[in-house]
Amino acid sequence: MFIRILLCALLCILGVGCSKGDGPLDEWMQPDGKIKVLSTTAIIDDVVGKIGKERIAHLSLITGEMDPHSYELVKGDDEKINRATLIFCHGLGLEHGASLRLKLQHAEGVTYLGDYIKEKQPGSILMRKGQEDPHIWMDIFLWKEVIDPIVKELSRVDPEGALFYEQNGNALREEMLAVHEKIRAQILCVPQEKRFLVTSHDAFNYFTKRYLAGGEENWSLRFQAPEGLAPDGQLSCFDIQQIIDHLHAHNIHVVFPESNVSKDSLRKIVSASSEKGFSIKLSKGPLYADSLGAPGSDADTYLKMMEHNVSLLVHEWQ
Ligand SMILES: [Zn+2]
Repeated sequence: MFIRILLCALLCILGVGCSKGDGPLDEWMQPDGKIKVLSTTAIIDDVVGKIGKERIAHLSLITGEMDPHSYELVKGDDEKINRATLIFCHGLGLEHGASLRLKLQHAEGVTYLGDYIKEKQPGSILMRKGQEDPHIWMDIFLWKEVIDPIVKELSRVDPEGALFYEQNGNALREEMLAVHEKIRAQILCVPQEKRFLVTSHDAFNYFTKRYLAGGEENWSLRFQAPEGLAPDGQLSCFDIQQIIDHLHAHNIHVVFPESNVSKDSLRKIVSASSEKGFSIKLSKGPLYADSLGAPGSDADTYLKMMEHNVSLLVHEWQ
C-alpha cells in the first residue's frame, strides 16, 4: 500500500497524474488570466465558447446526460460558481433543482438568457399547463437572440475584447440562420400528414411551432409527450391512453426517445398499443433535447444536435 502511495505521489510530481483528471475543468481552473465563464448546460456553453473563443475559459456545470430540470449541486459545484466571473443560465424555470436555484440567486454575474428573451419578446414564450416552457433553444431563430446578452456581458467584463465578441457573435448569428433555413426546408419536404411528433418529455413545443407546423395556428396538435415539461417518469394509465389515442388519430407509427430521458414511458406506450393491435415502434436513435451528444458524436454541438434531430425525424418519417 505504502509503495502504491509513493508511486502515485511520484507520478503526480512528474505531471502524469495519479487519477483520471477532468481536462476541461482542470483547464478552466487554471489561473491563466482568462475570463472564467460558467454556463449551466452544454447547450449554452457551446454558444458562449463560439463567441468568447480564446479570450475566455468556459465550462458547463451540468455535463453528460444529467437532467438540467432537476439538477442539484454536487461536490465542487460551489467552487465553480464562486470562481466564475460570468454565469449564463436558461431561466424560465429550467434550473429548478432547489440547491442550484438558491446558489444562483445569491451568485454574482448571473444572466438568465430565457428571461432576457422573455423581456425582449414576451409573446415568444410558450406556456404549457400554466407554466413557462423553458426549451427555447429548440427554435434556432429564437435562440439566436441570446447572442446579444452574451456579447454584452463578455464586453462588460473585457472591454478590450468587445469588437472581437461582436464579430464572433455576428458570425454565429449567420451560421445559426443558415442552419435554421436548412432544417426548415428539410422538414417542409416531409408531407404535412406525417409531421406529428411524440417524444419522452415536453421539450419540442418551440421546435414544433417553428419547424413542423408550417405556420398553422393549431400547431400544438402536432406534438405530444407523456412526461410534461420536466421528465419525472410518473405515468398514469390515462396519460398512456391519451398518447395512444393521439397516435391512432394521426396514424403515427413511430415515437422518439430522448438521449437523457428513460425510455420506459415510451416503451409502455408501444407495448400497450401493440396489445390493441396498433403497431408503433421506437425510432432507431434518440433525439437530443436537454443535453448534447457525447464528444465526437454527430450531436456534440448545439447546431449539430439540431441537425441530428432533423435528419432522424426525416429518416423515420419517410
Ligand atoms: Zn426539458
